[in-house]
Amino acid sequence: MGSTFSTLAYLVASVLFILALKGLSHPETSRRGNLYGMIGMGIAIVATLFTKGMGFGGIVLIIAGLAVGGTIGTIIAQRIQMTALPQLVAAFHSLVGMAAVFVAAAAFYAPESFGIGTRGNIKAASLIEMSLGLAIGAITFSGSVIAFAKLAGKMSGAPITFQGQHWLNLGLGLLLLLLIVLFVATGNGLLFWLIAILSFALGFLLIIPIGGADMPVVVSMLNSYSGWAAAGIGFTIGNLLLIITGALVGASGAILSYIMCKGMNRSIVNVLLGGFGSEGGTAGAGEAGDRPPVKAGSPEDAAYMMKNAQKIIIVPGYGMAVAQAQQVLREMADLLKKEGAEIKYAIHPVAGRMPGHMNVLLAEANVPYDEVFELEEINPEFADADVAFVIGANDVTNPAAKTDKSSPIYGMPILDVERAKTVFFVKRGMSSGYAGVENELFYRPNTLMLFGDAKKVTQEIVQALQR
Ligand code: NDP
Repeated sequence: MGSTFSTLAYLVASVLFILALKGLSHPETSRRGNLYGMIGMGIAIVATLFTKGMGFGGIVLIIAGLAVGGTIGTIIAQRIQMTALPQLVAAFHSLVGMAAVFVAAAAFYAPESFGIGTRGNIKAASLIEMSLGLAIGAITFSGSVIAFAKLAGKMSGAPITFQGQHWLNLGLGLLLLLLIVLFVATGNGLLFWLIAILSFALGFLLIIPIGGADMPVVVSMLNSYSGWAAAGIGFTIGNLLLIITGALVGASGAILSYIMCKGMNRSIVNVLLGGFGSEGGTAGAGEAGDRPPVKAGSPEDAAYMMKNAQKIIIVPGYGMAVAQAQQVLREMADLLKKEGAEIKYAIHPVAGRMPGHMNVLLAEANVPYDEVFELEEINPEFADADVAFVIGANDVTNPAAKTDKSSPIYGMPILDVERAKTVFFVKRGMSSGYAGVENELFYRPNTLMLFGDAKKVTQEIVQALQR
């Protein structure tokens, strides 16, 4: 009865996971999507407890694991700052990778428990699955650790490159394939660990040359890898649900990577070969001495100008997330709508620090979805906007992407904010964005800088509007 029940429950859980993914594809349905995912996972856990042959010891272990993992997860979820989500996601990917490594090791040393043969006599098909799960898991682990460190600012976001890097990676990749073939042929324990060590090194080497501007693709790619690693584990332990879930995560992550690449106008090969993005803030910016002085405005100036504007396009970016300014931003928009202005929000695909970052924040502030537009839809509208209100965004508005071939962001489609009659930039100072490129828009005659924390400045604009 156990196995029929489990199979049926796994099927229901798989359908719920698919519905979850579908729900998560739009902000309006994303809460429902999350709920489907949680119910699916709940069913999967209960079904696993009822799996045929699951002894009392197994059930106790699973419940203990759930208690420890669930407690840690709850504490993290309660404490996490919205701005730290991108690195948290990277950290979680690394755990999936490590889990794959551990399961592969468990299957290698105790194959009887998994029904894949006996110690030293494991089926070839199982050895293939195991080594792939091990290699992808280890690459995901070390790659995600580097992505975590870059996103959390614990190491420089600048690309780390050296001569012969790509040849070294290629050589190590081929060596890894050779080791896998030898391992499958011999089932040798030393080869198992050599595959692990080489894959850890490869994950590290693959991510270090990828610079600031291309990190969005890395985040979604590691998401995809973690899915494939989970699918690999699923094959090793013969768990259908894990194979389906892993494949869903792997495929959706791959599609997201493709969308991110399109958003940055890069090919995936181009990103993987790395070397874009830098830090320091002057790349492609020309000499500071050539520049006219920047014009700084006050929140009162901004309130006055926007009160008299007919069309205002708001461009949120990472700084809005840092300042948690989304709520007060919506209040500002509501007041301006009362004054008769048309308000639209423009979202760049890589604004913020994780896919969908801005959508999540605006949804949290209950910004109506029909006011939120993607890059291609909104770009033609800047020309007839009176004001572009850029709040904490920088790279995604930088025209160097269109004009400066030497710029690390060259080729990335940007929001054409400079076409608006007046452009406000709300930011604390003159520093560059994540890609480390100075933004010449700050010096344009139609730009007014509103210096300060995004939340504070917007609050002051709201107060001025209410006067
Ligand atoms: P940017 O990183 O280009 O710029 C953010 C700006 O916000 C900074 O220039 C900073 O200027 C300002 N800022 C920071 N804190 C505050 C604050 N409290 N109040 C006001 N302003 C603040 O952000 P964008 O969203 O324009 O672009 C995203 C960048 O991140 C792109 O380069 C993208 O490739 C990269 N990226 C995106 C990921 C994704 O998945 N979306 C993942 C990883 C990287 P100042 O210090 O002067 O205030």
